[in-house]
Formats: sequence, C-alpha cells, structure tokens
Amino acid sequence: MNNLVISALKPKNSSDRRSVIHPETLNSLLKDGIEVIFESSIGDGVFVSDSDLVSLGAKKATREECLKNADFIFTLEPLETEEINQLSPGQNILGMIDPFNNTSQFLQACKKNVNLVSMEFIPRITRAQKMDVLSSQANLAGYAAVIEASNMLPSALPMMMTAAGTLKPARVFVIGVGVAGLQAIATAKRLGARVEAFDTRAVVEEQVKSLGAKFVKIDLGETGQTEQGYAKELTDEQIAKQKDLQSKVCARSDIVITTAQLFGRQAPKIIDENTIQKMKTGSVIFDMAVESGGNVFGSKSDQVNIISGVKVVGISNLASKVAAHASIALSNNFNNWILEFYNSEKKEIEFDFGDEIISSSVLVFDGKILNERFKER
Ligand code: NAD
Repeated sequence: MNNLVISALKPKNSSDRRSVIHPETLNSLLKDGIEVIFESSIGDGVFVSDSDLVSLGAKKATREECLKNADFIFTLEPLETEEINQLSPGQNILGMIDPFNNTSQFLQACKKNVNLVSMEFIPRITRAQKMDVLSSQANLAGYAAVIEASNMLPSALPMMMTAAGTLKPARVFVIGVGVAGLQAIATAKRLGARVEAFDTRAVVEEQVKSLGAKFVKIDLGETGQTEQGYAKELTDEQIAKQKDLQSKVCARSDIVITTAQLFGRQAPKIIDENTIQKMKTGSVIFDMAVESGGNVFGSKSDQVNIISGVKVVGISNLASKVAAHASIALSNNFNNWILEFYNSEKKEIEFDFGDEIISSSVLVFDGKILNERFKER
C-alpha cells in the first residue's frame, strides 16, 4: 500500500509571504506516515529554508513534481488552467481557491476528474474551527490592520501623561465585529486607544463590551444573521441610515477600521465621501474589505488615497504582514482537514459525504460540481 502523499505549493503571487507548510506543524502529518513534498523555496517569506524542512522529513521538489506526484496538493491560491490540465484523475486540490472569483477551475477540474476542496467552505461548526482558514487569517489581519493604521497616524495611541502635558488617547472606531473586528478592537485596546465599535448583528454588543470597548447603538430596524452566523444583507434604506448615523462617530475618530463583509457577495459601501469630509485631517480609514469590493469611498487595494486630508487605506492579504504566524495557523488548518478524514490503515482519505465538513468543503468530486452555487456559472 502506498503512503498518502501531500505536496505544498509556493504561492505564485510574490507578495504573499505565507507558506502552507511550516516546521512547527509538519510533524503532525509525518508522524501519521503521510509523505510531504514541497516546492523548493516555499519558506523563503518566513525565513524557513528548504534544508529546515528536509531535516524534519519532508522532501524538496519542483513545482511540476508537486503537481504530478501528490494525492493532495495544498495551495494558497487557485491553480492555473494549464496546471489543472497536468493533473491525473483522482488527484485532489485542497486550498484557498477563491471560488467566487475563479469559476473556470470548476469545469476544468470536472474535465480532468480532479477533486476540488475549498478551505473557504469549511462550515462554521465547533468541530471545524480548527480547520477554519478564514477565521485564522482574519484574526491576524485584524491585528495587522491596527498596527498598519497606527503607523500612519501622526500621534500615539495611548494616553500619555508627560511633564510636557497630558496627551489624549487616540479614538478608534471599528465597523464590523466578526473575527477580524474583534481582534482589531482587542489590539487597539491593548495599545491604549479609546475604542468604539458597531455591527449590524446586535449579538456582538456583549463581546465588544467584554473587550472594554463601547458598542455604538444604531437602530436599523430588522437586521440579524444567517444560520451560519453571517450578517444578512441590508436594504438600501438601512445602509443610508447607517451611513448617516455612524458619520458622527467617524468624525470624532482618529482611526476608522471597516471590516463589514457578506460571504460570497460584494462588501457593502458604508462610508461615503460625505463622511470622509467630516473627518479630521490626518485621520486614517483602513478598509479591511478592500479585496471584496471595499466598504469605503475611494479605497483601492494596496494604495493610500488622500481624500479631503484623510488617508483612505487598503492593503490586500494583511495576514501576510505577519507571515510566520499566518503560516503556522494555515498549515494547522490544512493538516487538521487531512487528519480528520485520514484512515491510517488504508492510508487514504475517506470522503464521507454524510459528514458536514466533507459535504460543505468538497466542491468538485468525481467529475461533478457538488455545490449548487457554482453549477450554473
Ligand atoms: P465576516 O468577515 O463575514 O464579516 C465581518 C463582520 O461584518 C460581521 O460581524 C458582520 O456582521 C459585519 N457586517 C456586515 N455588514 C455590516 C454593515 N453594514 N455594518 C456593520 N457591520 C457589518 O465575519 P466573520 O469574521 O466571519 O464572523 C461572523 C460571525 O461568525 C461571528 O459571530 C463569528 O464569531 C462567527 N464565526 C463562527 C465560526 C464557527 O463557529 N466555526 C467561525 C467563524 C466565524
């Protein structure tokens, strides 16, 4: 019986410094008799050398070998069409495959009879939290957003009582209190800022308060969340009301961090030019939703736009700013998916479609697209 072979690809996007395998987490696969091969120089961005990984028992390979010789291919980005074409029937791609923006991979995978597992579609159930890449990366991104935004501010975050007088703490307003927003609140509090936050899901008020921040109450009528814990989309009237009522809070803030997202849809535009004009010169708006369309008027990926003296900032792939921690978390998430379904006697993964994690995360299997949302695309 052959061992299960996993290969780890290096992101082609050179600005992504993360690695999907890491010395701290590799042993969990190897000790179960799984073979791991990796694309040479995968760890460069996190100061892990090929020889560090080889000394732990993984094997160095070319990208072609990683594609050709693995049962499961770990990737942090969708594979290109030519790469899927090189694969053999029964091989599996397990990755952050950005399914909503890369729909051509579905038909390609079907054509080649290659299975496609999306780590973005891990269900939000307790048993799957250890595999949840969106949460692990959002958490680190929330931290990085505060660090980046505070670097752009001409003042410090904490209150400082000095011989030269008392310096007031910075005011930070976090809009959207999911995983990223909660970490942004916690980080800004640790740095000594006065923090306020708002979310359309009223259930987060307690969490905001438990971090020592103030929950801003804005009555938008019926809002709520889906069974999966995602926010429901607001009506145009509700968005207009939100913009109007939160603009007062933006005006008094030094940093506004927006994280409002709706899974699989464009992010809502919740800060318009009017609000920006009311804000203080030199203040910062950090749009964490920039990659899914943006929450803020004028925000663009990897740009700082100065609008009415306010810095409107969008940085893509924020988790890559703390690439070592992001890689440890990611590789644990990926390994946990494998280990959950690995049968060590048969040395294979058991695709049990009665299991909620399998039925949710496997998008293409045995030449068929399984998720309705991608069938008509
Ligand atoms: P997300 O990244 O999908 O969205 C960010 C936040 O934006 C959400 O809190 C959402 O309510 C909010 N939002 C959307 N539209 C808004 C608007 N117009 N104005 C203000 N805020 C708006 O969120 P997330 O990090 O995925 O977390 C959402 C919830 O799911 C949280 O309660 C989180 O704890 C929960 N969650 C549970 C699991 C699990 O059980 N395994 C995993 C991940 C997240």
